[in-house]
Formats: sequence, C-alpha cells, structure tokens
Amino acid sequence: QVTDPLAKEGPSSPSYDWFQTDALVTIVIYTKQKDINLDSVIADHRDDSFRAETVIRDYSYLIHIALSHEIQEDFSVRVVENVGKIEIVLKKKENTSWKCLGHPLENHNSLIPKKDTGLYYRKCRLISKEDVTHDTKLFCLMLPPSTHLQVPTGQHVYFKLTITGTEIVKPYTPVSDSLFSEFKEPVLPNNKYIYFLIKIYPAGLFTPELDHLQIGDYVSVSNPEGNFKISQFQELEDLFLLAAGTGFTPMVKVLSYALTNIPSLRKVKLMFFNKTEDDIIWRSQLEKLAFKDKRFDLEFVLSAPTSEWNGKRGYLSPALLSEFLKRSLDTSKVLICICGPMPFTEQGMKLLHDLNFSKDEIHSFTA
Ligand code: FAD
Ligand code: NAD
Repeated sequence: QVTDPLAKEGPSSPSYDWFQTDALVTIVIYTKQKDINLDSVIADHRDDSFRAETVIRDYSYLIHIALSHEIQEDFSVRVVENVGKIEIVLKKKENTSWKCLGHPLENHNSLIPKKDTGLYYRKCRLISKEDVTHDTKLFCLMLPPSTHLQVPTGQHVYFKLTITGTEIVKPYTPVSDSLFSEFKEPVLPNNKYIYFLIKIYPAGLFTPELDHLQIGDYVSVSNPEGNFKISQFQELEDLFLLAAGTGFTPMVKVLSYALTNIPSLRKVKLMFFNKTEDDIIWRSQLEKLAFKDKRFDLEFVLSAPTSEWNGKRGYLSPALLSEFLKRSLDTSKVLICICGPMPFTEQGMKLLHDLNFSKDEIHSFTA
C-alpha cells in the first residue's frame, strides 16, 4: 500500500502496472503529474534487481523489484509528458511468459521525501581527461548501459572513491562538453556521457586520487541532487551570474539553457572571479560566445593579477556589484546565480540583500 504524503497538498499518489509481449516487459508508472520528463526518472538494473526512482517535486516514488526472470543489460525509458506517464521497456533474455514481475525489495511502491531516499550509486567508466587550465581538467564519464540518468540543469552528483580503505564522497556539477555543444551534433551519441570540470588540489584529499584514475577505471556516481528549479527561469528577462573559480561549473548549463530555451531573455551577464588569467576556465570559449550572442556579456575580475592586467581587480565589492547588476529595463524580471568558495558566496548573498534583491531573485549553489 502506498503512503501518500502528497495527498494533503492535492495531487494523488503515483502507481504502477506492467505488461509483456514475447520479447519485452514494460513497466508503466503513472505519476499523475504534468511536469514529468526524462530527467525525472533514474533507473538502474543490477544483477536481478531493478530500481527506478521518479522524482516528483520533493518526493521520490520508488519501484524496487527482484525480477522474476533475467533481462538484457540495456533498457529504454519513454515519457508521455502531458499525462505524466513513464514507460520503462525491459528486454527479456528468453522469450518466455512471466507470471509475475518479481518480488518487492526495500521501499518498493512507496513515495518518500527525497531527502530520506539516501544516495544511490552506480559505477561509471572514465572515458577521457583533458587539461583545461594548469590545474583544472575536463573529465568524461560513461554511465553503464544498465542505467538511465540525466542530471537536470543546476544540479550536482556525488562521486565516491575508496581511499586507503575509507569511502570518500564529494559533490561535482556536470557541464556540457563545451559552451557550444547545444549548437552542434553531439560527437558521442545518446546521453550516456557526463562531463565535469574539476580542479585538482595537490594537497587535497579527493582530487589527487581522481586525477590518478586511468582511462577505463571506474568511479561511483550518485543520483542528482540540488534545489535549483528550471521554473526559476520562467518569464526571465535579465540573468546575472556571479562565479568564482570552479564555482563556474553550475553556470555552464544554466547559461546554455537560458540562451537556448528562454524566449523572454534579454540579457545574460557573467562576472567571473579568479586569482589570475591562467586560472580562467574556458576563457576563449566564453569570449567567442560573447562575440556571437549579443545578449551575453562577460567580465573577468582577478584577485591576484599580473601588472599587465587591464581589467577589473580585487574581490566581490558593493561598487562592483551595483555597477554590474543593472537591469535592462526598470521592471525586468531578474535572477542572480552565485557560486564559489563559501566566503565568496556568503559575502555575495549579504551584498545582494543589501542591494534589496529579494530571495526569489537570488539562487546560491551549495551542497
Ligand atoms: P580538500 O581536501 O577538500 O582540500 C581543498 C583545498 O583546501 C586544498 O588545497 C587543501 O590543501 C586545502 N585544505 C584542506 N583542508 C584545509 C584546512 N583545514 N585548512 C586550510 N586548507 C585546507 N569542484 C570542482 O572542481 N568541480 C565541480 O564541478 C564542483 N562541484 C561542486 C558542487 C558542489 C555542490 C559543491 C559543494 C562543491 C563542488 N566542488 C566542485 C568542490 C568539490 O566538491 C571538492 O570540494 C573539491 O574537489 C576539493 O576536494 P579535495 O578533497 O581534493 O580537496
Ligand atoms: P579560488 O581559490 O581559485 O578563488 C577564486 C576566486 O574566489 C578568487 O579569485 C576570489 O575572487 C574569490 N575568493 C576566494 N576566496 C575568497 C574569500 N575569502 N572572500 C571573497 N572572495 C574570495 O577558487 P577555487 O579553488 O576554484 O574554489 C572554488 C570553490 O567553489 C570551492 O570551494 C568549491 O567547493 C566551490 N564550488 C561550489 C559549487 C556548488 O556549491 N554548487 C560548485 C563548484 C564549486
């Protein structure tokens, strides 16, 4: 029996059903929600168990079953958005008729607060690793064929590695393979590849281990987390991005999404804080994008520049911010995204409140 914590707020509980043909078994999830898409479902098939987590607002609806028969490794997921129906099509290993789907495992057919679901990991293979700056690299990981997972814009995942016998977990934010990938045919087809820009800290606990992985090695990657919502873009006119160092990573997909999908958008401005010119991630791509798309403006601010640097210097300040955050119209709907080292984000939030921006107009990326 499904417990229904959403009931009080209106929508009714999800449910599921299944049917089969000679070769296929289809699990159908009825979410009874309209805003469901392929990002909403995370599905994994491991040994004989099948787990599908459907994210419905702040809840997860779980299908978790020990299947009665063997299936092939890969499966497909379809979503009928207008009715909130999800179909997961499994391929039978043998063309026999199944009497039942299987038996329930922990939390099967239940709707639980997302914060209580725990992190679920699958092993992803390192496909490539490219230098981006002197200390930051672009990692490409491949999801197993037995996983369906798409990380929504503005969300992160956790990596897990065992380091000298202890499991260590750290968050990382997927990016696209370049700022221009929305506009070209993908080099690698389908959604199996996930890209990350990661700074390696020589004295760090986790990143040196990550850097030591060889192509073909594995790292465990969790389900997506994070509280950024695409609906924050609705009717948006001015988007301001304040990024420091690798705090640039969530801005990559936010920037591409906004420029591609928000018809009301007039202006996107990125103020990118770094120590030196050598630390700027994807500088030439950003400059090309600013040249190509007149809606996009770019400003670099360096805290430890060389004497040749002609641009802005220092840390985040009230003067820098009030000049930067000019609305394109007095009445523009704005969103300000901020991400970087903790003191940067905290100071930024304080300055933004002092400048009278409301909570709804600010999104800070944190764990
Ligand atoms: P740590 O061991 O944490 O050390 C980092 C640095 O601090 C090193 O230089 C170390 O010497 C120094 N240090 C450690 N402890 C101390 C101390 N006590 N006093 C002084 N100095 C100290 N990073 C990315 O590169 N890319 C991303 O996409 C990304 N996404 C993130 C998303 C979220 C939601 C969050 C919260 C963080 C994200 N990060 C990202 C940061 C990432 O999670 C790690 O914090 C980072 O990779 C450092 O890990 P580490 O274990 O190698 O370094
Ligand atoms: P960094 O040390 O290279 O610093 C980049 C810039 O941040 C500096 O040039 C400066 O302008 C500003 N800055 C640094 N310390 C400051 C301080 N004390 N006060 C005000 N401004 C300061 O940055 P990095 O090594 O690339 O670190 C990036 C940080 O961003 C990490 O702490 C990482 O955890 C965080 N991060 C968070 C998320 C997220 O929460 N979603 C995502 C990615 C990165």
